[in-house]
Formats: sequence, C-alpha cells, structure tokens
Amino acid sequence: MTDRVSAAPLDWYPWQVDQWQQVSQMIQQKRLPHALIIGGVAGLGKLKFATKLAAALLCQQQIDNMACGACKSCKLLASNSHPDYKLMQPEEPSKAIVVDQVRKLQHAMATTAQQGGARVVVINGASDLNLNAANALLKQLEEPGDRSYFLLLHQWPQTLLPTVRSRCQLLNIDIPESTQALDWLQQQLPTEERSVDKTIKLLQLANGAPLRALQLHASRAHELRHQMLVQLTAVFRGKESAVDVAKIWHKQPLEQMLSWWVEWLNDLIKLKMTSNAQHLANPDIIKLLQAVDQRSNIIDIYALLERLTEQLNFIHLRRNLNTQLVCEQLLHQWYLLVRSGR
Ligand SMILES: [Zn+2]
Repeated sequence: MTDRVSAAPLDWYPWQVDQWQQVSQMIQQKRLPHALIIGGVAGLGKLKFATKLAAALLCQQQIDNMACGACKSCKLLASNSHPDYKLMQPEEPSKAIVVDQVRKLQHAMATTAQQGGARVVVINGASDLNLNAANALLKQLEEPGDRSYFLLLHQWPQTLLPTVRSRCQLLNIDIPESTQALDWLQQQLPTEERSVDKTIKLLQLANGAPLRALQLHASRAHELRHQMLVQLTAVFRGKESAVDVAKIWHKQPLEQMLSWWVEWLNDLIKLKMTSNAQHLANPDIIKLLQAVDQRSNIIDIYALLERLTEQLNFIHLRRNLNTQLVCEQLLHQWYLLVRSGR
C-alpha cells in the first residue's frame, strides 16, 4: 500500500517533497499563480522540479496532480517537442538571456496553445536576464494570458528586479537537513567512496547542496580546495606573494573558490566571537583559522568578507571583471589581515 500524501515518486529528490505538496495543492485548488519563482541555491534540482511541474500542467490526464507520462502531451514533452513548452536560458554558458529571446517568446505566447491546454515557460537562470530582457518579460508577466505559466528559477530571488519579483509568487527549495542530504548522497556514490567522512566533506564543499556535492565529486573539487588552502596559508605566512597566487587563481573556477573563502571567513568570525571550534562548518581547517584568529581583528575580517561577497556578486551578475586584479586585491587584503593585530 502506498501513502499517496507522504510518498515521493521514485525519481523525486527527497528534499523537494514539501514544495511539491504545496504546488500540488495549488493545482488541485486551481490557484497556482501564473508566475512562480522557484528559488534556491545551485545544486538543489530546481530545473527538475520546474520540469515536473510543467509536465503536470501540460498533461491532459493528470494523476494525483502529476503528469501521467502516457498522454500525447506527456510524450511530446518527453521527446522535447511540445509546442506549448518553452525553456529559456542563456544561449551560451556564462552569457546573459537577452531581450531578443524574450521577444521571440512573446511572439510564441501570442498565439493560442497548440495542444489546447496550458502553456508553460521555464526560465532557467532568471538571474541571467539582462535588464532589457527583464523589462520585456515584465509585460508578459503582467498579462500572462489564460492558462499560461512562467516558472522562473533563481538562486537569489531577492536580487531580481523588484518589478519582476512583485508579479511572482516565491517558492523556495531549501538546503536539506544534513542527515537527509547525507543519506541521499551516499546512495549516489560508488560503494567504495561512500564513507561518512568523505560524504560529509563533499557536502561541506557544496555548502549542503546535494547535487552540487555530486558534481564536485565528479570534478575533483577536493584537490582544488586543498590547493587553495595551501596557497592561502603561504600568502598569510608571506611565503608566496598575492600577485603570484592571483596568476594561478584567476584561471580557476573563481565563483566556487570565493564561495569557499566566504564560508571560511564566516567560520573565522564564529571562532572569534565564541572561541568555540565546535560548530564550525569547516572543522578540518581549524588550525589555519586559529592561526589567523590570533593575528587579526574582527573589523578587518568583516571588511574582507564584505569585499569577497561583493566580488562574488559581480561574478554572478557577469560584470566584466579583471579577475586577476580582483584576486590580487583580495589576496593582498588577506595578507594584511594577519598583520593588522587583534
Ligand atoms: Zn499526461
């Protein structure tokens, strides 16, 4: 016997069950908003969630508010040829979604649904909409048309244009609690690599996002993180210069690296405030943190954290940065940090 309320479909991520129940109820009560922002950091499966929701909305014979998988509409979607489903994302990785893409969409949405049902647009990476594109989209969101749905995926919905945000309802997918993430991740890893220690470490690297952890496992992020820590220690001890390390860093996945660095500084602040190493997110780097703690003051740590967050945001907004210079300045600030005294 299956419990239809609590049982998640097999191919469903366990940390999305609550959110699915919410949308399922909204479908049932016919109050699903025409524009929904699906929020949450990278690595939580937002696109998969949106695709399932789109399939449910397009399906001609839903079962328990989910797509049946068998009707014509479901088959068209599975073969990537559903005329009333549009996936909008940057045409090339690291590029923005441009206004032409939104205009094409407007044109497609102006006609009636070809399958006679709903129309769904999934915007994968609403943060990639440039300003003109976001403004063009606004018109669509204002008059979405009958049975038209926009699903906007966004890592940081609070940074969306307020005019866009105010026309959408927000559904957040949260980072799962650690035991759930750990269980799930262990099941995905090859048997010989499933040790609890290793899995916990991977989750830490991914700031708790299970799919990101899996991706990092594949990309050997461990080594990069280790190398970064060695280099930060060398700069802090004055054994390598900020300039030399910046030459290496700027060619590497900087967004990931700066995110780690932010986490480490947060741990450093925790350590400084509480002198307690128990609740750190990165207990494995306690020695480095303690050494920096002894030689730095909190104001400078906050200043570096602010700078890092700002640069991360610029990278995220795809501002054209001189990344080598950015690395150089951040590393120099780090070098000075331990020379500022407590
Ligand atoms: Zn169907």
